[in-house]
Amino acid sequence: MLQLIKNAQVYSPEPSGQQDVLIGGEQILAMESTLSLQTSGLDYAEVDANGALLVPGFIDPLAHITGGGGEGGCHTRTPEMQLTDATTAGVTTLLAALGTDATTRTLPDLLAKAGGLSAEGLTVYCYTGSYEVPVRTLTGQVRDDIILVDKMIGVAELAIADHRSSVPDARALAQVAAAARVGGMLAGKAGVVMLHVGSGASRLDIVEEALALSDVPARQFWPTHANRSPELLQQAVKLSQQGMCLDLTTSETPMLMNAAESLAEALGLGVNPERVTMSSDGHASLPVFNDRRELVGLKMGQVSAIHRALQQAVLEHQVSLPQALQAVSTNAAQLCRLPGKGRLAVGQDADLVMLDPTTLAIDSVWARGQQMVRDGAAVVTGTFG
Ligand code: ZN
Repeated sequence: MLQLIKNAQVYSPEPSGQQDVLIGGEQILAMESTLSLQTSGLDYAEVDANGALLVPGFIDPLAHITGGGGEGGCHTRTPEMQLTDATTAGVTTLLAALGTDATTRTLPDLLAKAGGLSAEGLTVYCYTGSYEVPVRTLTGQVRDDIILVDKMIGVAELAIADHRSSVPDARALAQVAAAARVGGMLAGKAGVVMLHVGSGASRLDIVEEALALSDVPARQFWPTHANRSPELLQQAVKLSQQGMCLDLTTSETPMLMNAAESLAEALGLGVNPERVTMSSDGHASLPVFNDRRELVGLKMGQVSAIHRALQQAVLEHQVSLPQALQAVSTNAAQLCRLPGKGRLAVGQDADLVMLDPTTLAIDSVWARGQQMVRDGAAVVTGTFG
């Protein structure tokens, strides 16, 4: 069925003015200032956006779709994500990873869950690996995983500067990045290595060392939780000048600074607006550790945090809407070489979010052409909700 969205203010993410957008199958078929199918004889549905904003579906580059956590014992393992956790948050593409636990959480489980959410209408890619080096893989090699497994586009989230890490050295880190890079080259994928950066004092020093001792380009590394401290954010912004992209975690925890404020801060420090992304860390456990590294609190990351961060960045921290949209969609699509994602244009995937022009609240969401949310509520639910 064709769907015609009339009178939308399109941000692609650049402002494109008032447009009518025609969706057919999973793609955007046409985008013009005026489109009409009234005399075409075709069967179609029409939605009047009435001046609402139409923006690219959000891409969450770090989501723990099978659940994560467990740092406080087995009862602290977090539950799996469901379709509507993503769709009601405007997230239409997920990049899925394991975390601290790669013993009871496995890559086959991650791929199966990714397949399930894809069958329900989302776009889902996966990372091989977990916190550990040597990297836990499916086939035995990082490179083979990325070449041979369609959904695998890189490695995540290798832990550095963290008491839960496997204490990798710079050479080991560079070797993982080199394997991911070559795997990516041979498969036509990005081969990025997302790094979980903990609260350790060494911050990103190991990345600087890995870059110094190898020929791996800085853009292969992608540190997340870069909003953990002002010092870490500054170091990440400095490394971004070499081509590295940095990721801000939007789920709120006392262990991190506010992501929206950190985005404004990074832009103020001169970061290239194409080299910052925002992820939810959704369904990760968000443990709070005291100075003695003892667990003193625990929450769970929410996918919806990405949308809240977009609202806060624009409405409270004077980040322009196009720059905020780059951070929640376009940049991850570009960095990870995700075909059809991150931009609204003819031929791109029909992953769309309709936002209230004043509050930026989510009105409607389409994922691969299917309307998932209408009037702020899910109209499609997953197999189990
Ligand atoms: Zn992490």
